[in-house]
Amino acid sequence: MQSNLDQPVQYLKSVGPKRAESFRKVGITTIRDLLFYFPTRYLDRSTILTSSKVIQYLSSDYAGEVTIIGSVIDKEKIRYGKRQLFKVRMRDSQGFFECVWFQGIKYFTNLFNIGEYFAISAKPVITKYGHLQFVHPDFDKLNDSESQEFLNTGKIIPHYPLSKELRDVKLGDLSLRRIISSAVEMYVSELGETLPEWFIEKHSIPGIVFSIKNIHFPENSEQLKNAITRFKIEELFYLEILIALRKKRIKAKNLGIKFSVDPGPVKKILAALPFDLTSDQLKVLHEIRVDMESEESMNRLLQGDVGSGKTIVALIAMIIAVSNGFQAALMVPTEILADQHFKTISKLLKNFDYKINLVIGGQKKSDRDKNLKDILSQSNLIIGTHALFEQTVNFKNLGLVIIDEQHRFGVAQRAGLIMKGKRPDVIIMTATPIPRTMSLTVYGDLDVSTIKEKPQNRKSIKTKVVAEKSLPEVFNYIVENSRKGFQSFIVYPLVEESEKLELKAAETYYEKLKSTFLKNISVGLLHGKMNWKDKEKVMMEFAEGKFDVLISTTVIEVGIDIPNANMIVINDAFRFGLSQLHQLRGRVGRNDVQSYCILVTKNEYAVKSAQYTFDFSYLSKSQIEKNKSIIRLNAMAQYDDGFKLSEIDLKLRGPGDIFGIKQSGFPELKFADIVNDVELLIKAKEDAFELIKIDPDLSNPQNSILKNIIEEKYKENLHFINIA
Ligand code: ADP
Ligand code: MG
Repeated sequence: MQSNLDQPVQYLKSVGPKRAESFRKVGITTIRDLLFYFPTRYLDRSTILTSSKVIQYLSSDYAGEVTIIGSVIDKEKIRYGKRQLFKVRMRDSQGFFECVWFQGIKYFTNLFNIGEYFAISAKPVITKYGHLQFVHPDFDKLNDSESQEFLNTGKIIPHYPLSKELRDVKLGDLSLRRIISSAVEMYVSELGETLPEWFIEKHSIPGIVFSIKNIHFPENSEQLKNAITRFKIEELFYLEILIALRKKRIKAKNLGIKFSVDPGPVKKILAALPFDLTSDQLKVLHEIRVDMESEESMNRLLQGDVGSGKTIVALIAMIIAVSNGFQAALMVPTEILADQHFKTISKLLKNFDYKINLVIGGQKKSDRDKNLKDILSQSNLIIGTHALFEQTVNFKNLGLVIIDEQHRFGVAQRAGLIMKGKRPDVIIMTATPIPRTMSLTVYGDLDVSTIKEKPQNRKSIKTKVVAEKSLPEVFNYIVENSRKGFQSFIVYPLVEESEKLELKAAETYYEKLKSTFLKNISVGLLHGKMNWKDKEKVMMEFAEGKFDVLISTTVIEVGIDIPNANMIVINDAFRFGLSQLHQLRGRVGRNDVQSYCILVTKNEYAVKSAQYTFDFSYLSKSQIEKNKSIIRLNAMAQYDDGFKLSEIDLKLRGPGDIFGIKQSGFPELKFADIVNDVELLIKAKEDAFELIKIDPDLSNPQNSILKNIIEEKYKENLHFINIA
């Protein structure tokens, strides 16, 4: 049924063909679209200062952006040398201030007219003449009655995004506000509800008409908050319904292998281990076992902090697959790690009659050919790098795929290996815990198993941030450490742009240390450019204790397990991201002795600040942006828990950096943000999953609104789900 809301915007007063065309360019064609064109910020009297308050405020420590309202008393263009600036002088009830622009002078000159009211937002400064000044501020034009009302009644004024297209047709703050205001007044009552009654009641959120009114022209800040919450939770609810539908669809479609668990081989491997599994390892194994015994394909994410013992869990799953007559493959991101897994697994399985193959890029052709032949005929366990999903690799009957350090592989690469089996069971493992928000969204269709506790007797790693000038002391520690029989890593960052130069630096560094600070102990060198045989040799020798110290680039970042190493020194720690630092630190602390992580930086301030716990949640976005590396080092010094760190990392990177929602076929979020709206996200998820469990086709009449909207508005996403 065609409603008034579907009429073109041109139907509205003061919208002619030209403006309608500009509206179309920003995605607004109908009146309904206009009602859903939401303000991006609001002017609220409670956040406004007067000019005299601003000056007081300037002397406080937290001087950031402020908003101030005033009227224009004069304006002028001023030449200085070859350049020009534009200055507007303004006043409010308490005094005078000025705004200046160095660019866009013509545009601004026409905008500011004497007697007009503006709300000005920027970081204030005091000029050398003692004037209160705002440079290139944000501003909102207010009309007389608005500014009076605003100042007297505390009305909240919406501020809409004004793109160039809109400005070109003379749509400014005032005129746009007027058009939207009359559209809301005339048409809002015709809007149909977009959420079912039960959901609205359950969460005590306002209905659609009230919400639209209040998101544009709020009665007060409380109602504004309610309206915003409604649109956020609504958006998240639909997202989670799509995720729940997809998860259900994948399960139902992918009937895979039904393994049966023979306790014999599992007992045998457990007996061969020098330790007992932790209760988290057992819990996770149980979850995997239930999946493997079911006829639905397993699609499970196993997350556990660095050193929590994921490898052994993976190995037991592989043993279950192999004892059912299937092949199991383990894919890892680096050759060194593949080799390490190959060696430990071969050792653990020496009393099993299994054929194990290693496939890595750097192998000799004859070795490679033999491996490929084995994989096609008699191999049971296959361990390898990216080389595994190459075309030449063909399996006899791949039944289980395990991907270690999954974030190092693209979706296509993971799929490439999985496609080589007939609906194999899949476990993807990660030591970079996926923040809760991500496991609720991008990874929402995976089942998640988590290892929280580390093996007993592990001590938390002592982490210290030190200045570069203290390196000699650090080297003394290393020498002392080796006297006690322990080993150390020294990591040297390698920057892509100048690999050769840096490599030279690593080599020089190695030579220098060997002849100075570390001359009485033995030192090895490992870097990415070494050929495979040399890398393998150095790693083996380090594992066997032939060196006290391994100087290395970040090739050791993931997975490497040398339990006797208890000290890691990370040079130029500023250069690394938080998860990378945590991964690197995870190379130590794999034993029951005390381990140490030393982060070296040139920045003295970082050294000082790392001594204190500081809560950066009160910092503004731009302050966080400026101090990211200091915050990272501080977080490393304060926390040892990968989950905590990944939450901090996400906060530092911000939601803009969370990729993958779009690629995963889910709608992009417009209102909610999955970092700051976690609470709402969790509520939405619980309701959506419960809903799909009890009403999978949304056929219950009380869910008909949901069914209609999913089928219309989310048609494309639904299509993607059906083909996934
Ligand atoms: P990650 O989860 O980082 O991949 P690993 O699987 O490499 O961790 O395990 C780290 C170290 O802990 C290895 O040396 C492993 O043998 C050891 N380990 C694993 N499980 C246990 C356990 N239950 N008790 C003691 N040590 C364990
Ligand atoms: Mg590992």
